[in-house]
Parts: sequence; C-alpha cells; structure tokens
Amino acid sequence: MMRALVRLPMLLAVMLVPLAPTARAADDGIAVDQAQYANRSLLPDFTGGDCPDMPRGLEQMKGNLYRHTSGAGLAVHSGLVLITKEGALVIDPAATCTAGWLRDEIRERFNVPVKYVVYTHGHADHISGGQVFQKDGAIVVANQRAVEPIVGEKIPTAVPDRVFDQDMEITLGGETVLLHRVAPSHSDSMIMVLFPKYKALQCTDVCEGKSMPYNDFLDFYYPGWIETLDWVLLQDVDVIDIGHYSPATKPDIAAERAYMVDLHQQVLDLVRAGQSWDQLYRNVKFNDETKKWIGFDTMRVLNIMGMYRWVSNHRRGEW
Ligand SMILES: [Zn+2]
Repeated sequence: MMRALVRLPMLLAVMLVPLAPTARAADDGIAVDQAQYANRSLLPDFTGGDCPDMPRGLEQMKGNLYRHTSGAGLAVHSGLVLITKEGALVIDPAATCTAGWLRDEIRERFNVPVKYVVYTHGHADHISGGQVFQKDGAIVVANQRAVEPIVGEKIPTAVPDRVFDQDMEITLGGETVLLHRVAPSHSDSMIMVLFPKYKALQCTDVCEGKSMPYNDFLDFYYPGWIETLDWVLLQDVDVIDIGHYSPATKPDIAAERAYMVDLHQQVLDLVRAGQSWDQLYRNVKFNDETKKWIGFDTMRVLNIMGMYRWVSNHRRGEW
C-alpha cells in the first residue's frame, strides 16, 4: 500500500508528459562563468560599423532550415539557421554589421527570437556579431576549446554561455540539433553541427565544395582534417554548408579528401627528396578538376606553403 502511494505521483507525472503543450528548449551544455570575462579587453571589431552595401540574405534550404549569408562573391560567409515556433538557432553570425539585420529579419519573417547561436570554431570572421544576439538573450554555444582563443585573441564577440567537450544536443521547438567535435582540423575548437531531420550538416572551413581550402591552412591540423572529412563521409547528409561560397555534397568532400591526401604526399616526397621551397612549390602537380575549383589561382601556392610547413614540422630525417 505504501509503495503504491509513493508511486502515485510518479505515475501521474509520467501520464502528464504527453499532454505537455510543446517541448521546451533544452541542451546538455556546460555553463560558463561569464563574470570572469566581464572586463576582458577587446580588439576593435573589423566587422563593426555600418555596412549598408554589404549583401546579406536568409534563404530557405529545406522546411524549417535556412541559410544566412553575409558578404559578396568570394568573401561570402554563411551559416545554417533553424527556425522553430520556440525560437531560432543561428550558426556563426559572421559579422557584427549584418547581425542586427539577421536578428530583425528572423523576428519580422517568423515572429520568433533567436534562442541559440552556435559557433563552429573560434575564428573572428565567422563568430563576430555573437554579442548582438547574446545581448537579446540568446544562448551562445561553442566547443570548450573556443573560449581560450576568443579571450586570448581579444576577439570582440560574445564569450560562449555554454560549452561542451565531445558532444552536445540542443532541443528547440521539438527539433534536434547535434553538435560534435571530431578532431582538431581547421583550429582545435572546430565542431560539426548536424540537423538529422533535414540531412544537413554545418562543416565550416574544413569542408569544401569544388573550392580550394583557404590560404596557407591557417590554424591547421592535417590528420584531424582527414579524420573530419572521413566522419563527414559517413553521415547521412545531402546538404553541407561550408561557411562560404555555396553548399557542398558528399562527392565534393570525397574529392577534397583526395586533394588533401595527394598534396600532403607530394609535398612530403619532395621534402624527402631534398628540395628547397623554391624548387618544391614549382613541382607540385594538380589534376584538371582541381584546376577548375574556386580560388585555384590565388590559393594554389598558399596551399602548398601551408602543407610544406606542416610536413616540415612533422618529420625527421635519418638523424
Ligand atoms: Zn576559420
């Protein structure tokens, strides 16, 4: 009898769950103590100021999933946006001068606030503008390894409110968003963001869609880059936003992986053959497909340079 009485409230609670009107926003992130960063010093915001002529957009991808863009042509930065009745989730605001527009656009078109802002990694060109949303009550999320560079480099954006080590799950308006850290790749703080219902993935700066990786592979980890592409190729996705240009597909990622592995092997072979930089960069070969990729002419030698640095720092000769 006692046991039955004790169980009664539990039973009622279980029965009431399906009657709840809507799922509540929730996540399993770790709270960051913001007080310790209250008076941190900041660099000037290179994305601040007015930019009335900078192109910006918010386009539907599939159902409730959208993609925001800011900037023009090769300078475009992008991130996926999930709109739910409980609020929106925005990945990488990209620029302070367009963040206010994006916030207002979401409010006007969908009549919801931005509940979450997710940073893909701790680089200013993607996470600037986070403070605009945090000020309005959005929860800013990043990998725990992004906090140090944001604070240490004095990046003038929001310090994350919630962080995670390997995995984090956000539930918003009954939809699920999965955040995952694969390995250090383009920065140590890089994360992948999956929208399982839409077979969509945010893979910023590591993934490419018929485009060259940026410059000399800044903040670069070669093995983790390949590990990340291998992880992407295992996902059930057909849209991959790369944070720039246009979204990529899995065949694009397979081609990029082949390019990276080939570039690494060529540079390693040439270094082992004793070639100096001045010889080496002239002897790296590119296939005809790669020669058609976005940014090939401007990124070609810089890509070789980045790989040359990586290879030189991660080998030892006979002695
Ligand atoms: Zn980056």
